Amino acid sequence: MSDTATQTFVIVGAGQAGAETALELRKLGFAGRVVLVGEEPHPPYKRPPLSKGFLAGSVTQEQLYVQPLAGLEKQNIEFRANARVTRIDRAAKTLHFADGGTLAYDKLALTTGGRPRLLSMANADQPNVFPVRTINDIVAMRAHSVAGKHAVIIGGGFIGLEAAAVAVKLGLKVTILEGLPRVLARVTSPEVSAFFERIHREAGVDVRTGVQIAALEGDGAVTHVTLGDGSRIDADFVVAGIGLVPNTELAQAAGLDVDNGIIVDECARTSDPDIFAAGDCTNHPSEFLGRRVRLESVQNAMEQGRNAARNMLGKNEPYHMVPWFWSDQYDCKLQMVGISTGYEQVVLRGDPTTQRSFAAFYLKDGKIIAADAVSKPQEFLFAKKLVAMRAAVDPARLADEAVAMKDLVPAG
Ligand SMILES: Cc1cc2nc3c(=O)[nH]c(=O)nc-3n(C[C@H](O)[C@H](O)[C@H](O)COP(=O)(O)OP(=O)(O)OC[C@H]3O[C@@H](n4cnc5c(N)ncnc54)[C@H](O)[C@@H]3O)c2cc1C
Repeated sequence: MSDTATQTFVIVGAGQAGAETALELRKLGFAGRVVLVGEEPHPPYKRPPLSKGFLAGSVTQEQLYVQPLAGLEKQNIEFRANARVTRIDRAAKTLHFADGGTLAYDKLALTTGGRPRLLSMANADQPNVFPVRTINDIVAMRAHSVAGKHAVIIGGGFIGLEAAAVAVKLGLKVTILEGLPRVLARVTSPEVSAFFERIHREAGVDVRTGVQIAALEGDGAVTHVTLGDGSRIDADFVVAGIGLVPNTELAQAAGLDVDNGIIVDECARTSDPDIFAAGDCTNHPSEFLGRRVRLESVQNAMEQGRNAARNMLGKNEPYHMVPWFWSDQYDCKLQMVGISTGYEQVVLRGDPTTQRSFAAFYLKDGKIIAADAVSKPQEFLFAKKLVAMRAAVDPARLADEAVAMKDLVPAG
């Protein structure tokens, strides 16, 4: 490691991937300078609790931090907050900052994540329309989250549904507006979507699918949301959970390959051998899926961040991971493994129309390619194995709750 002791490794983007990259460099004994640069005012923090415990008020801001500032200092990680990188000069191996400063690097990691997709209509910039990505977004939203107020949530994806579950528990009146025919349509099956629509409706949420947002009305603040069919919904505030745009502009302007994310190889290397990238901003080859993929998941951000650190140190280790994800809504914990897109058969274990715990397994060519488990930790544990193996399992036995999950895992 002595040859790297005088080097400077810079990480741009102080989110979960950036923090993991920096921490892993130190864990591996890198003795040079590690600089972690972030445009937000906060130390690196975990985003999943933002739409769960932090919005509910049960998780404090400090509890979100991946490491408190003192922890980063102890590891000799130079953390720069409120520092936006505006340009990478690859020839001079120098970063340029919004405040005019510069910083030279020997190796660079881009962990710039993504930003919320914004509603493209008049009044989307009113002060009571909130995206859900940062601590600041949630702090602003919480000031409006008062019992009796009406929250209109645009987008029936994970973030919208999680925010709805918290808001209704806080005593707000909640309406979810989803343009597609069902919630979670892009990520799961109709059976699982129907389950989530049911539990939200049972909790008192007005779930409307297949709707078109015609206008956000109001002067100085949105007061009504008008739909394509002419109906008008009262709104004290609006939450926009309509997806993520990867932050790739910096990489693109520097001439790195970008296509729905910064293109990296299996070692998290970009098209410049001295620049690596990890997390939500990357498009990486997945051996498991047999294609490239851009994931928006904490597990990927953390593991790919660690992998980038190893490869910045020249280890040449490929990154292999079976994607997995979770979501908490009410008393239900959804855990997903694999990607179900293109499945031919769904096998249910338990009844999602009447129960609050069940599992759905997705089969293609007779093999399990993905699974969703709701409050079924045992099923999820074994589902991870079955999906990783792409196991061929008899659907009737898979559906039969009397057959233990462990007995479904093929030998060897
Ligand atoms: C509300 C919410 C709930 C979630 N829930 C879950 C969940 O339950 N399970 C799950 O697996 N995942 C969940 N996710 C997704 C997960 O949080 C992300 O996948 C993860 O945070 C990605 O980490 P990242 O470091 O790649 O990117 P980010 O967390 O986006 O971090 C990137 C950082 O880089 C900064 N940056 C960008 N450009 C620059 C620049 N030019 N200069 C300086 N800084 C820059 C950004 O401001 C940001 O702070 C959730 C996300 C949100 C928003």
